[in-house]
Amino acid sequence: MRLYEYEGKMLFRRYGIPVPESVLVRELAELDKVVYPVVLKAQALVGGRGKAGAVETAESRAEAEAKLGKLLKMVIAGFPVQKVLIERKVEIEKELYLSVTIDRAQHKPLLIASSEGGMEIEQIAKQRPEAIMKRHFEVGERPGGYLGRTVAGEIGLSGAEMSQAGAVINSVYNLFLDCDCKLVEINPLVVTKEGKILALDAKVDLDEDAMYRHPEFKEAPLHLKIEARHEVGELTEREKVAKAAGIPYVDLDGDIGVFPGGAGFGIASIDLIERFRGKAANFMDSGGAPTQERLRLMIGLLMDNPKVKAIFGARFGGISRCDDWAKAVVQYVLENKPEKPMIMRMAGNMEEEGRKIIEQAKQEQPQLFKSIKVYAYDTPIEEVIKETIRVARGGA
Ligand code: GDP
Ligand code: MN
Repeated sequence: MRLYEYEGKMLFRRYGIPVPESVLVRELAELDKVVYPVVLKAQALVGGRGKAGAVETAESRAEAEAKLGKLLKMVIAGFPVQKVLIERKVEIEKELYLSVTIDRAQHKPLLIASSEGGMEIEQIAKQRPEAIMKRHFEVGERPGGYLGRTVAGEIGLSGAEMSQAGAVINSVYNLFLDCDCKLVEINPLVVTKEGKILALDAKVDLDEDAMYRHPEFKEAPLHLKIEARHEVGELTEREKVAKAAGIPYVDLDGDIGVFPGGAGFGIASIDLIERFRGKAANFMDSGGAPTQERLRLMIGLLMDNPKVKAIFGARFGGISRCDDWAKAVVQYVLENKPEKPMIMRMAGNMEEEGRKIIEQAKQEQPQLFKSIKVYAYDTPIEEVIKETIRVARGGA
């Protein structure tokens, strides 16, 4: 779960990692608190803001107003900018790179430091691999106090810079461990013209599954509003509705609504849809014997999504019985009279009963149920998916 830069910097302050003086603003009036010159940074959950024109400088209030106005109108990776971090501008002498993450191949925490900050680490790795220092740690290992300075020395710092950077490196490692992070990255970590070490950027990714261990994040002075988030932005409105109801749901880019059984089949469905050159509009887990109300809410999430052109449904009846599923579909259609086609396959526990419920509804109200179709186990899932894709494209 990504944190915004300003949230990451709140954690940095707690760990004594120096950051520039700043204010977080949402509107022009708040510029009163600012001392110029400043850097204005749109708060977004994607990197590369510098290149995207989302980091600006201003020498005066007038200039800051113009630039703040511009930044607050930006949409980055589909999400409108709502907050801008305004920082005292610093004179940069040197840009460094520092991060701690988990090396998934080695199953160990990994510290990466480089004398070449400012650009993406992948780019540094290509252009100057010799300028990158890597060090693995054992799981749970607390590095000795000398570690930071050693690393700072290895990336070419000496004297006061080395001891300041050393303290920052140790603090970053401790923050990474204490806060259950997946990533802490400072790019750039700078040496200012006055010889001070400052974290100019903060990229922190927390392990969402460990958040129960950190009630303090929600309390003063942090007040992190760290509900679930994507890598690139906040939850969409539909995802918020689903989350409130406890339904695992993720919006995707395509036009095929996916109403599978459990999570595993949900993912397999998305793969199959792609394989037949369609695009899924969502991921959803509708397993675990959901109630009628919940099932109808799930169908509604798909039917009400303007991007969805057709819905693919598949129920392998187990704990979640086919007849319960069919009842929910029929009830939903009676109540909402949707136009969108829904093509389903039903197999397993109570499949006969389930199919009868739908067939009967079709007989009684052919017009209302004309775009609702149900197949049995003898039609392969691939055929049902291909038909759904065809129908979504306007085919019969
Ligand atoms: P990112 O592009 O999303 O990673 O955003 P950053 O926070 O890293 O900002 C982009 C770039 O703006 C940095 O690499 C710096 O070169 C520059 N920058 C940010 N803050 C300052 C500052 O206070 N002074 C100066 N001179 N440059 C800054
Ligand atoms: Mn950066």
